[in-house]
Amino acid sequence: MKYNFSCADIGMNCGYQIKGASSEDELLEELKIHAKMSHGLTSIPADVLDKIKKNIKKSGKYSFSCADVGMKCGFEIVNADTEEELLNELAIHAKLSHNMTSIPQDTLNAIKSKIKVM
Ligand SMILES: [Zn+2]
Ligand SMILES: [Zn+2]
Repeated sequence: MKYNFSCADIGMNCGYQIKGASSEDELLEELKIHAKMSHGLTSIPADVLDKIKKNIKKSGKYSFSCADVGMKCGFEIVNADTEEELLNELAIHAKLSHNMTSIPQDTLNAIKSKIKVM
């Protein structure tokens, strides 16, 4: 999972972006330096911090294999762009290969806990 942020997303007119930080904490630490150096903020006010956190974009690749939840069908999804995409694709597989018209909540929870994010 990579974390990205650009000042333009919170209405700042400065063109600054962070791409590919490996955690939200890392990104915020880096952003504190930028806020101080470029925006003259010695600390980031709570409301701005809130806004920043809401605008942090996560990017990653989502992977899942049925074997992870004990299914022996050999089905895998590798590198879907979003969890939503992966789950939509998995719903089709569940229907066509496992005869599940919908995925039960407990199975869905098990699936979600096994999704790998890179
Ligand atoms: Zn900025
Ligand atoms: Zn399967």
